[in-house]
Amino acid sequence: MKLHEYQSKDLLARYGVPVPAGEVTSDPAEARAIAQKLGGNVVVKAQVLMGGRGKAGGVKLFTDADSASEFVTNLLGKRLVSIQNPQGMLVEKVLIAETIDIAEEYYVAVLLDRNIQKHIVMISAEGGMEIEEVAENHPDAIVKLAIDPIWGLCDYELRKAVQDAKIPKPAQGQMVQMIKKLVKAYQEADAEMVEINPCAFTPDGKLIAADAKVSIDDNSLYRHKEYNSSSDDTAENPIEAEANRRGIAYVNLGGDIGIMGNGAGLVMQSLDEISAAGGRPANFLDVGGGAQADRVKSCVELILMDPNVKGLLINIFGGITRVDEVAKGVLQAFETIDLKVPVVARIEGTAVEEGRKILEGSVIIPAETVQEAAQKIVELSYAKA
Ligand code: GDP
Ligand code: MN
Repeated sequence: MKLHEYQSKDLLARYGVPVPAGEVTSDPAEARAIAQKLGGNVVVKAQVLMGGRGKAGGVKLFTDADSASEFVTNLLGKRLVSIQNPQGMLVEKVLIAETIDIAEEYYVAVLLDRNIQKHIVMISAEGGMEIEEVAENHPDAIVKLAIDPIWGLCDYELRKAVQDAKIPKPAQGQMVQMIKKLVKAYQEADAEMVEINPCAFTPDGKLIAADAKVSIDDNSLYRHKEYNSSSDDTAENPIEAEANRRGIAYVNLGGDIGIMGNGAGLVMQSLDEISAAGGRPANFLDVGGGAQADRVKSCVELILMDPNVKGLLINIFGGITRVDEVAKGVLQAFETIDLKVPVVARIEGTAVEEGRKILEGSVIIPAETVQEAAQKIVELSYAKA
């Protein structure tokens, strides 16, 4: 679960990481009051869970509270669009922070490197909004240091990494201290990523986190209940948030063929078959074992909330799950939904005869095998386009 910048900064500040003073709000009048309190020199920052906010117009500096609050009025309720987020992210909250004088912008992050199977620290003296470009064209400018799972980081190797990253001498000591705090926060918060970009070095020689991104491992959220309430309204993907509320295992994959199956393995196989047939899976969804009709209905609704979905593949192998319950649920869902996309179903297993009878004469197109079902749904979904 990605945390907003203000939440990330709150978390890191608790570990002693220097962050600019600031407050979050969703009210322009309150924004003015906060800006006044901070002396008028403020940066207004949209709290949306996407990269490239600066480039998308979501970060702006002001020298007086009135213009800051005017900007907030315009920003709230808008959608910020970036390359990574073409459909845009709704701005519901803004952070008003004191403006930092920035002489240099560095980059520092702690994250899991799945290739080497270790947590690593990444450091670069070339931080700021072009870090992706740096990673692409000058990967040498980013130093990676693996954290030993038993020993952790030793001071000498951390100092060397900071030097190798060409962090200037006056900032090196503070950078080492900051990284230690980031690693501690990363470990104790069960984070998947902690990223400071830019890590600002001020003309008077202070290192401060001008931006912060923290992502918490979803599997550990039960240990971090303070974030549960914020997961729904501002989540990255509103359908995933709704799935969370309904207790359904759903992951949006960004494609356009919806899939509902039972059992993670069967669903993953379905995704593979859709891809093999030339389709782009829209989602992962596991209805779970022993699903009843109303749960199946809820799952179908969820998949069709995604406006990109051009077709729906249902792949159920009934074991504990009764296929006739699934068939009932699907048809119930279609009674309340204005179905605009083709649906292909491959159903097998417990109570399959009853299930097939229920689906007979409905809009659902039957298929014998998963491969056949995938091919049919891909053909039908892309036929009109
Ligand atoms: P992002 O684009 O979503 O990563 O948003 P950031 O918070 O990183 O802000 C984008 C850019 O705005 C930064 O790289 C800085 O150059 C600039 N910026 C942000 N806060 C400040 C600030 O307090 N002072 C100054 N001078 N620039 C800032
Ligand atoms: Mn940033």
